[in-house]
Amino acid sequence: MKKALITGYRGQDGAYLSRLLLEKGYQVHGADIAGGAGLWRLRELGIEGLVKEEPLDLLDETAVRSVLERTRPDEIYNLAAQSAVPLSFTEPVLTAEINALGVTRLLEAVRRVSPASRFYQASTAELFGSTGSAQQNETTAFHPKSPYAVSKLYAHWITVNYRQVHGLHASCGIMFNHESPLRGEQFVTRKIAIAAARIKKGLQEKVTVGSLDSRRDWGYAREYVEAMWLMLQQASPDDYLLATGRTRTVREFITIAFSAAGFTLDWTGEGLAEKGVDTDSGRTLVEVSKEFYRASEVPELSADPAKALEKLGWRPATGLEDLVSFMVETELKRIAGEKVQL
Ligand code: NDP
Repeated sequence: MKKALITGYRGQDGAYLSRLLLEKGYQVHGADIAGGAGLWRLRELGIEGLVKEEPLDLLDETAVRSVLERTRPDEIYNLAAQSAVPLSFTEPVLTAEINALGVTRLLEAVRRVSPASRFYQASTAELFGSTGSAQQNETTAFHPKSPYAVSKLYAHWITVNYRQVHGLHASCGIMFNHESPLRGEQFVTRKIAIAAARIKKGLQEKVTVGSLDSRRDWGYAREYVEAMWLMLQQASPDDYLLATGRTRTVREFITIAFSAAGFTLDWTGEGLAEKGVDTDSGRTLVEVSKEFYRASEVPELSADPAKALEKLGWRPATGLEDLVSFMVETELKRIAGEKVQL
């Protein structure tokens, strides 16, 4: 039986990956900060109690080493992070401690305690930041634009460095946004899905968001964790860009979400005055506020995921319409107290 250690296993990706590996017959050890809030995800996935819990804070070097001594896993998936870009502007030091030095603590423990373990690092499309390239792939230069992205840049290169210098089987997935009903509520996609469902049920009047023109490449998280696993099954470690290759605006995302809840939105006005109005009732359901604009916005990124397709045989299959509708339908079920299928 193969053994895997997943840090941040109570997060969106960690929960989906835990289920995937359990289905594949792995013994799964899940490391997360004690008292963390994500157990509901494992409950909804029907795997609560099946993952062996390993309380771990990536800030604690001794604890990092001891979890590796206890588990000696075949595969390590480092998903733990302070993963919110906006929070990184107000908590830059903590973000760097967890996302940059935390990864170094983990890699150093792997090198000393369990060098045969295969290692996955969750890198991000935010690394590209203000890159001038029309299309990004694994060779595009990085120009991070937030403390989150800078911390992940360090993590990315230290992982590459441990691969090159110490010969670790260490790989990075440069992941574009991926969403699901298990996304944290602080992220705009889940906020929109919840709002569409609550407005439908008369529990909320409207939702206020930031830039409607921001474009993102949104995929389905459940498919992205399959790519993580595939990367660690390769004979040689490498870095892969994971994306759908298609971008859509926040405005389009909202239109799809509200449509899934039974509303047709008409967009009127411009900039901060733009509104999403329900064509049936004339009610304003979506407003814009500067409060939700990023301190420095990443311009449109356009991904080329050809390497993951060619080498891993990985191709995301779920389109944005299906993904967003699924997220809203799940929120409607949660409100009704019905069992959700994830
Ligand atoms: P989440 O924020 O949902 O999960 C991160 C997990 O790490 C949470 O359970 C969190 O606990 C835990 N954690 C936070 N701090 C620590 C710490 N000091 N020690 C141990 N655990 C900690 O993220 P996702 O699942 O969405 O993402 C997984 C990884 O992929 C992250 O590294 C993220 O940065 C990266 N990524 C994600 C993308 C996406 O679109 N989802 C895109 C690109 C990269 P708690 O919630 O209690 O704080």
